[in-house]
Amino acid sequence: MDKHLTRLAEIYKAIDNLYDAAMRHYDFRCEGCVDNCCVTKFYHHTNIEELYLSEGLKKLDEDKKKEILLRAEDVVKIHNSSPDDVRVMCPLNEKGLCIVYEHRPMICRIHGVPYQMFKKNMSIEFGTGCYKFINEKLNENMQYFMFNRTVFYVEMAKVEKELRESLNLTEDYKKTTAEMVVSILKPKS
Ligand code: SF4
Repeated sequence: MDKHLTRLAEIYKAIDNLYDAAMRHYDFRCEGCVDNCCVTKFYHHTNIEELYLSEGLKKLDEDKKKEILLRAEDVVKIHNSSPDDVRVMCPLNEKGLCIVYEHRPMICRIHGVPYQMFKKNMSIEFGTGCYKFINEKLNENMQYFMFNRTVFYVEMAKVEKELRESLNLTEDYKKTTAEMVVSILKPKS
């Protein structure tokens, strides 16, 4: 595997380990959620995550890729004609499961439990967790599990910088998962 992808895989592994520990700490599970986070319009900001996702999509058969591409194009159309808080299922979710689970982007791995993050201006952002967490677990007696996202974002930015330099990429990157899928699977004309 390319060294940038290997490094990203390590970052994802570290996220998954901390996330699992947080879930155990809170005794919290996604099962039974009526507010599937896969319908949220998340943006991704790195080329390296698109490359990693493309590794997962490569493993699918050609018919499945065509099916997903059609779904992704539909989602992009809906996103482009709706307010930013529109809720529409990710084209990579089938029957409630992510079909590229091992290659899903960072936000899919990290969303759900409360977190903190140090911003560039040294302010600290706190997140309360997802809808289900707020309803089931968030209360004044809750023991906070230290989930500091900062290191993951910093490490991801380093890998992205190296990738951009090696490929001479200069444009800003901002895509939804559906847009990523279209970029990866749409035949280049
Ligand atoms: S990539 Fe997978 S986990 Fe992320 S929103 Fe899509 S289906 Fe859900």
